[in-house]
Amino acid sequence: WDMFVLAFVERLFRPTYRKDDFVLGKKLGEGAFGVVYRVSLAKNPASKKEGDLVLKKATEYGAVEIWMNERVRRACSSSCADFLYGFLENSSKKGAGYWLLWRFEGEATLSDLMLSKDFPYNVEAMILGEVQALPKGLGRENRIIQTIMRQLLFALDGLHTTGIVHRDIKPQNIIFSEAGSRTFKIIDLGAATDLRVGINYIPKEFLLDPRYAAPEQYIMSTQTPSAPSAPVATALSPVLWQMNLPDRFDIYSTGLIFLQMAFPSLRSDSNLIQFNRQLKRCGYDLVSWRKTVEPRASSELRRGFELLDLDGGIGWELLTSMVRYKARQRTSAKAALAHPYFGREGLLALSFMQ
Ligand code: ADP
Ligand code: MG
Repeated sequence: WDMFVLAFVERLFRPTYRKDDFVLGKKLGEGAFGVVYRVSLAKNPASKKEGDLVLKKATEYGAVEIWMNERVRRACSSSCADFLYGFLENSSKKGAGYWLLWRFEGEATLSDLMLSKDFPYNVEAMILGEVQALPKGLGRENRIIQTIMRQLLFALDGLHTTGIVHRDIKPQNIIFSEAGSRTFKIIDLGAATDLRVGINYIPKEFLLDPRYAAPEQYIMSTQTPSAPSAPVATALSPVLWQMNLPDRFDIYSTGLIFLQMAFPSLRSDSNLIQFNRQLKRCGYDLVSWRKTVEPRASSELRRGFELLDLDGGIGWELLTSMVRYKARQRTSAKAALAHPYFGREGLLALSFMQ
């Protein structure tokens, strides 16, 4: 009840917006469920020329996306782009739609950055705000990739602890927050689901991006009693969450991003799709995939294995604990953050274990 009152008061003092308040700028994205623009406020000339906001005009599914963003801003705001406001816009001739407003976090998604020849050094420069004069090499690249992975897993752990599974984790949905924390944040909660209250349970399965989706079709087993599909708050037992581990769907996708960061050749769509086919043929077992490709690997592919093999292979160990066929055998975001791959304490722990 207190939470409810707090949320209401907080909402009351937040600025509200209407359709005519915005000046549309560049189109940033367009999908089957909405269009995204960079926008500025009409009454704020200072922001006019660039546009320091992002506006998504969404279809009927926008209601769920607003709900998810409201929840994130109260429970784990650092995980995602700063959400400002969402409302039902009725005046359009094409019918009603939901409008969502965020702060414009920055120009670059992880996808943009990964497709540059300069990756991962371009990310290092973004995080540090300056270009380093250090010699380039595997060790330095590994450290940058570690930093990106840590930030991703941190954001993901925030969502999962809140009870939200994103279901569309991919480099295009990860933005570098230049305007804010200078870290990576997650965007696009359009396919997200909140299993603890049964919001958007499975009705949007068709939304899943096959390039990054884990092999399980449904993130909850078919034995699970069906939850309401409309946004009604019906308490779902946390025990159910524990049993089905739906968060591991996002872990698989994050593992594929890790893989793409280590292997430049897997960054293109066509090669990622080909990799997915190979992995499926290997029964989703990365170790046997490695056995089949390594003997005839290009020098570029070999360099990726070399990177993951640094420090006794802890990178490879983390990767293989994320990309596994069975959800319950995958690590969680929280456990991954404690993996020896991240940091000196972890390295010490590993040396004790051996
Ligand atoms: P969809 O994928 O449904 O079209 P997204 O929410 O992923 O919608 O947004 C589309 C694109 O807009 C993103 O890939 C990103 O480039 C950009 N974008 C979205 N939100 C922000 C934000 N808060 N700051 C900067 N750019 C953003
Ligand atoms: Mg998107």
